Amino acid sequence: MTEPMPSNLHDLLDDMAKRCTSCGVCVRSCDFLRRSGSPAALARQGREDGAVLLRAYECSLCGLCDALCPQRLSPAAMFLAMRREAVKTGRVDAKTYRPWLSYEKLGGALPFRRYALPPGCTTVFFPGCSLPGSRPQAVLSLLAALRRGDPAVGLVLDCCGKISHDLGYGESFERISESLRRRLQGSGVRRILTACPGCDLMLRKLDGDFEVRGIYEVLTEGDAVAETAPNRGTVAVHDPCPSRFDPKRQQAVRELIRRAGYAIEELPEHGRTTRCCGQGGMVEGVRPGAVDREAARIAAQGQGRPLVSSCAACVNALGRRAEAYHVVDLLGGEALPSRRPLSSARRWFNRLRLRLTRLP
Ligand code: SF4
Ligand code: SF4
Repeated sequence: MTEPMPSNLHDLLDDMAKRCTSCGVCVRSCDFLRRSGSPAALARQGREDGAVLLRAYECSLCGLCDALCPQRLSPAAMFLAMRREAVKTGRVDAKTYRPWLSYEKLGGALPFRRYALPPGCTTVFFPGCSLPGSRPQAVLSLLAALRRGDPAVGLVLDCCGKISHDLGYGESFERISESLRRRLQGSGVRRILTACPGCDLMLRKLDGDFEVRGIYEVLTEGDAVAETAPNRGTVAVHDPCPSRFDPKRQQAVRELIRRAGYAIEELPEHGRTTRCCGQGGMVEGVRPGAVDREAARIAAQGQGRPLVSSCAACVNALGRRAEAYHVVDLLGGEALPSRRPLSSARRWFNRLRLRLTRLP
């Protein structure tokens, strides 16, 4: 784990400037730091010149530096704090991030929100936005699997606020988070099962007494996912960067892949040191082509093997450069479907349809 850091940006920059030894470990693994200098150098520049705060929008907040730092520092936390300060001081041009912020706003709006809670429901499945958009049937199958163990499991389609959080719109994130907390708590929900690693992180920040768990761990605990015949092929696992410090989720995803009959060959960078698929931190806003470059890098590590991830957004990104699947695509026991990327309109339609579908 990283060391606790001060909460105030000024102290945080001072702390990084003092404690980062500019050893170069994180710099060697990160294109942004290679271009910009060590976290200590950026902290020193940030203290002198407010315009440097905007450099933080080139950081994907992927946390690889945190995982590698021998001093147990968190450059990712510093770059997020720089983003927040840049927003607070009016340095960010909101137009740059309008597509992401509009996506978040619409996704959390009433036509897309759903609280389907059977009587006695205290546990809900919270699939996020990318999985319902790309695989609405899989959401229903996962819910049905959970309900075989507990018929009162509910379904919540709502927004976790990660876009506002990562872009540094702290007040907007707090608003989204607080409304979500009120809706969940007001409905008697105590336990939240997540599919998306980003939602998982955000829901763990909710100011309430919720138990948050990944659905993949829960699925490995019972017999909801049976073993199928082995030798269906070999895949490589891409661990999403929000779950780099979540070994339980990483192991559960691998267990489900094995149960589905696939062997795993690990990517050179996986688990704690996994790479971001390129979508993290919405870097694309200031570095066009970031998603394509990072997806190509991970595809090259996969050496032609199909890539499997537990994040539907990662799968969308990786699918630009490789055969890529969500772990739930493997669970049906059938041959892997050939998937063409869905248009944005199709994904919104899928979400709307799921909002209106009669549940199993
Ligand atoms: S969080 Fe990721 S992109 Fe940002 S500085 Fe660290 S390694 Fe680089
Ligand atoms: S690994 Fe840690 S000490 Fe080394 S340059 Fe990066 S933040 Fe500084």
